Amino acid sequence: MMNTIVPTETQARLIEPYGGRLVDLLVAPEEHDALRAHANTLPSIQLSDRALCDLELLATGAFSPLERFMGRADYERVVAEMRLADGTLFPIPVTLPVERIDDLHYDREIALRDSKNNLLAVMTVEEIYTWERAAAAQQVFGTQDPAHPLVAEMTRWGSLNLSGPLRVLALPRHYDFADLRLTPAQTRARLAAAGRTNVVAFQTRNPLHRAHEELTKRAAESVDGTLLLHPVVGLTKPGDVDHFTRVRSYKALLNNYYDGDRALLALLPLAMRLAGPREALWHAIIRRNFGANYLIVGRDHAGPGNDSTGRPFYGPYDAQELAQQHSAEIGVGVLTFSEMVYLPDEGRYEESTRIPNGAQVASISGTQVRSDYLNRGRQLPDWFTRPEVADILSESYPPRHRQGVCLWFTGLSGAGKSTTAEVLTILLLEHGRQVTVLDGDVVRTHLSKGLGFSKEDRDVNIRRIGFVAAELVRHGGIAVCAAVSPYRATREDVRAMVGKERFVEIFVDTPIEVCEDRDVKGMYAKARRGEITGFTGIDDPYEAPVNPEITLDTVAFTPEENAQRIVAYLVEHGYARGGK
Ligand code: ADP
Ligand code: ADP
Repeated sequence: MMNTIVPTETQARLIEPYGGRLVDLLVAPEEHDALRAHANTLPSIQLSDRALCDLELLATGAFSPLERFMGRADYERVVAEMRLADGTLFPIPVTLPVERIDDLHYDREIALRDSKNNLLAVMTVEEIYTWERAAAAQQVFGTQDPAHPLVAEMTRWGSLNLSGPLRVLALPRHYDFADLRLTPAQTRARLAAAGRTNVVAFQTRNPLHRAHEELTKRAAESVDGTLLLHPVVGLTKPGDVDHFTRVRSYKALLNNYYDGDRALLALLPLAMRLAGPREALWHAIIRRNFGANYLIVGRDHAGPGNDSTGRPFYGPYDAQELAQQHSAEIGVGVLTFSEMVYLPDEGRYEESTRIPNGAQVASISGTQVRSDYLNRGRQLPDWFTRPEVADILSESYPPRHRQGVCLWFTGLSGAGKSTTAEVLTILLLEHGRQVTVLDGDVVRTHLSKGLGFSKEDRDVNIRRIGFVAAELVRHGGIAVCAAVSPYRATREDVRAMVGKERFVEIFVDTPIEVCEDRDVKGMYAKARRGEITGFTGIDDPYEAPVNPEITLDTVAFTPEENAQRIVAYLVEHGYARGGK
């Protein structure tokens, strides 16, 4: 059932110090039908995105010699000492945590499925064990600070780990960049065909700028090796540039600036843990399984950023140190680099530790790439990023004035939401923006036709508007929404649906006496006479916003003046260009 991939002679030599075991858990195709039918009689669990990535790397041997989600003995020793029970170095726990499930028994098989219930594998449960959250966080990540993305995520993991032999029917399907998704065996074959003894792997979760290009080329040349450009496309740090954009940029870079005989681009479906030093070591082991015998470890490798006191979780060179300590044991050389910076006077890159005294240096941080360049529609300079890459980044991250935003008016009936929204829409069109108006009354004639004014129906109506607004905003439009939206919690839900940084709550704060006096639709009179019930402000509550981005006064200011104020706010925040 389990096949072992036989490595070529060169590969065997590379893997030798590590035990030489390369696992492949894929079940032979002729056994699929029988196993599939059997699996349908078993209890199932759905794998998280993280477990799905882990399963793929277990199945293809990328985590070799690990061939299952860890059992207790492996888990505990890995957490405490970075070693599997048999002593093999392995710094990161790979587990399958679940919540207590009813028909969970030892020696019972269980079907592992993806979120759409496709069958991926069958596990024979040999172990079910509890694990200690706080201790694991402290030992693996060196912290219990929830600012660490994995420490935060772990609090949502189940309290029991499952382990046992796996029979894998299918790897998770990837429809994107299919030609770049190479298993360890496929990667080793491609590297062997390139013919060089040395293979230098480069790990990344970011777009590659000139500094990275320089460092990868220098590293590969230093050992006359083939470069394995091995970006992570599984799970990286929340907020990272999406992998579609990144991979398009890697391809552009490779096609234009690397020697095709000396570099191989392949995608790694790894779920990163952002464990800094321990992760660097893990990266080295994984890359070794893909056929590399060197790994580049630069500054702050696999770092999660800063802790809740604003200090970095790991020292900038801790990862290099740990990887180097174990380099001989795992058979992967570590090519270290300090930060690469640009010397404008000489027009070249150099490591920060080798800069001539008093020389001018230039650099742009990742944050600045977004805030000072992309958000403002400025092209990244040539010395920093290749133009092909800069173009791809600016397509994916258009300037603020071409990004979406939701302008959410809330207030009593007759407060002036529709009237102000109408003027605002015209002004925004004048500023060259695309606008869609979702007016509560209008929406009730189509999208929400048939809904009444009970609390439930009102909530459904608001959520529908919110859903449409979120889609519009995601596609770069302005959604102008004008509905009473009386309930605070529902408005907060919509804010979350749209994304809080793109949601502008505009409180049209008109006193009820004024609204009632205006009584545009004659509704207040009807409500007072008791002909309609549940009318906001009369016999149904209006919960005013606590912290709206904008509050309008429609008694002292005209609709034009208020609309201008909103435009000024948008210009100030970059969502519209000043001066039209
Ligand atoms: P991660 O280390 O989390 O995968 P990156 O994609 O930012 O994130 O980094 C990939 C590799 O490149 C790491 O080894 C990192 O230390 C190195 N690196 C990134 N930026 C620089 C830089 N400006 N100078 C030197 N090394 C760098
Ligand atoms: P809503 O959409 O909040 O129910 P409408 O915009 O439909 O309210 O109605 C508001 C009414 O108040 C309109 O008849 C409008 O002409 C009048 N009005 C008077 N002054 C103002 C003002 N400063 N801003 C907005 N509307 C005003």
